[in-house]
Amino acid sequence: MTTSVIYLDNNATTQCAPEVVDAMCPFFAGNFGNASSPHFLGREAARAVAVARERIADSVGCDASDVLFTSGATESNNLVIFSAAQMSTGRRKIVTSAIEHKSVLGPCEALETKGFDVVRLPVQKDGQLDLGTVQRAVDSETVLVSIQGANNEIGVLQPVKAVADIAHAAGAAFHCDAAQLLGKIPVSIDNLGADFVSFSSHKAYGPKGLGFLVIHNHVRDVVVSPLMFGGGQENGFRPGTLNVPGIVGTGVACHLLTERIETEMLEIDRLRGQLEDGIRTIASDARIVGSESPRLPGTLSVMFPGVPAELLIARTPTVCMSMGSACTSGTVSPSHVLLALGMTRDDARCVIRLSLGRYNTDDDVQGALRAISATLRDISTGEMPVRE
Ligand code: PMP
Repeated sequence: MTTSVIYLDNNATTQCAPEVVDAMCPFFAGNFGNASSPHFLGREAARAVAVARERIADSVGCDASDVLFTSGATESNNLVIFSAAQMSTGRRKIVTSAIEHKSVLGPCEALETKGFDVVRLPVQKDGQLDLGTVQRAVDSETVLVSIQGANNEIGVLQPVKAVADIAHAAGAAFHCDAAQLLGKIPVSIDNLGADFVSFSSHKAYGPKGLGFLVIHNHVRDVVVSPLMFGGGQENGFRPGTLNVPGIVGTGVACHLLTERIETEMLEIDRLRGQLEDGIRTIASDARIVGSESPRLPGTLSVMFPGVPAELLIARTPTVCMSMGSACTSGTVSPSHVLLALGMTRDDARCVIRLSLGRYNTDDDVQGALRAISATLRDISTGEMPVRE
């Protein structure tokens, strides 16, 4: 990475830990065997996969046999939601929230066109679900409840265990998209209380294109049905040659978390506090989105009234940050998450997301504040220098 760039986009992806890269490298060249092959190189690869599976299971508190490797949280989410359509319960209702990631909302929408009843629960104005609303929506027709652990845009945490209890009391399965939990706070499958939990390696200092689904059934008749058919890998639930380097890297990434997450989380929270205080100092009218709810330690979603996020980001090229909007086919549309909080489209266009991670420092925070402050000043005075 260019040293002059400050990376504050850790909810989009994290830098691969150097330890992860070192562990993966041998599996691209010297130990390149297929984990299903019967010979020496294949057995070495299979052994490395088994070690990684154990490390991953240890780090989230489940059995190694509960871990199913996928290409990421998008695939894990699709696998669970489309499985709901195959479950032999006869139930046809799926309950989710309006602020889920598109990889949950997309498959729900696809099932809706096949006659499923999809309920997208509203959230309160600061992003959290109201448990009474959940309780009223989940009933004897509900096959699956799918709620995220933390929101990728605003960092707000959901009362996942309480939602799991409501789902189970109604005989429904519970899925948690925990893509934003791993690497940011300690994760325990038992504490989530979920039957299915989706994870993504690249949000937790591991490689891109690798994720896993933990299957820890609490409800009878609820099973995963494969999206693809082929060889018998992963007991036939996710066929295809295993991504051995990616799996090994994820094992190391999870092992590092087991050792460091508690202290790392406190440090990142401290940096976020500095950043938040600094933002309030440079722009007294800035609004911190989701600040009334429990949040991930490193996420800061900020609205600068009247300042389009696109403009702020384009004029601050030394800071990598995100906007609370999606750019699809060349047009910027306000984020469904911010709209679900009751924000106007105009205000939603003025939201940026800063997300801190393991490799950020006090200097990064001070540098980002200086750069953002200079851009805000230029915009307010009508000056338009482009800084490199
Ligand atoms: N769910 C959430 C909450 C996410 O933040 C993301 C990534 N932005 C995903 C799912 C998709 O993860 P992946 O990139 O591993 O497919």
